[in-house]
Amino acid sequence: MPPRKRKSDDQRRKENKERQARLRERETSPQRKRRLEEQKDRQKKLREEQSTDEVEGARARETSLRRSKRLQLSAEQTGRIRNRETQQRESSRSQLSTEERDTVRDRETHQRQSSRSQLSTEERDTVRDRETHQRQLSRSQLSTEERDTVRDRETHQRQLSRSQLSTEERGIIRDKDTQQRQSRRKEAPPQTLDQAIKKFQQEMRKRPVHICTCCHRLLYRKGVQVFDIAKYDKISREMRDFVLAEKYREVSIDGKIYICLTCHKTLKCDKMPVQAVANFLYLEEQPPELQDLNELELRIISLRIPFMRMVTLPRGGQKGIRGAAVNVPADLGPVCTLLPRLPADAHIVSLCL
Ligand SMILES: [Zn+2]
Repeated sequence: MPPRKRKSDDQRRKENKERQARLRERETSPQRKRRLEEQKDRQKKLREEQSTDEVEGARARETSLRRSKRLQLSAEQTGRIRNRETQQRESSRSQLSTEERDTVRDRETHQRQSSRSQLSTEERDTVRDRETHQRQLSRSQLSTEERDTVRDRETHQRQLSRSQLSTEERGIIRDKDTQQRQSRRKEAPPQTLDQAIKKFQQEMRKRPVHICTCCHRLLYRKGVQVFDIAKYDKISREMRDFVLAEKYREVSIDGKIYICLTCHKTLKCDKMPVQAVANFLYLEEQPPELQDLNELELRIISLRIPFMRMVTLPRGGQKGIRGAAVNVPADLGPVCTLLPRLPADAHIVSLCL
């Protein structure tokens, strides 16, 4: 009789596993449930007997095992498992008291922070992007009211956590916020030649249509800001009431009131803006009989004959004056008594350039 072969440890373990697998295939759903519960109880008991370090080690080992197993699954399976886990977590959390829940949340936040501190900057960015995306997605499914509630809560939390910071830390955060806002506001540069041409044409099509309520000049959007009387609370009342009086108020084409940056800056220093209409530059309404005169008629009855160098501005269809302007007064007496007249008598100086 040949000697009985001793089975190696590996072989025995393998056979054990196979037997268990066979048993598991045959077991019914309640049996499976019972087995899992028993397993859990066993683990719990074991853990209670172990020290904290051992428990932590075992947990870490399990987590890494779970993670490596999960890497081999398809995306669909992973998603299903994650959903089930989230549900489990939520249901077990709903049974906790508020304090316990806070503790759990703190622990999780701490874990998240510590695991994140071990990541590289790129990985951290990826995680942040993914979280932002998830947040946006879940928020897009909320109603407007729910969204408002969430926003309020977040603002409150941010304010609270910021109030606990030192002045320096707060300054750093503020700078970062400003930078983020500015970079968000900056448009992405055009990628192709077509895009660049389109952008150029769009820019060139813009016209100066924004009226400064203080100096009544027509300006581009870049040169103005939305007018808010509350911004001038700190300047003297007389200045404010005189320069920014209601009667000078001008509404722009889009229904908003604007003020140019030049006037705004000067007013902030409590000074009269040079070009403000209140600086005795206000033009009276034209009488109806003078409203539809042609260019020549206007020249004939003008009280001054202006000499100035006119230039066409690069864009916007506006004309500008360059250099000094000379006004020659005209005697309108003869014009009023003698119409029509020859150009030689009309005080028009003809020049040949
Ligand atoms: Zn202005």
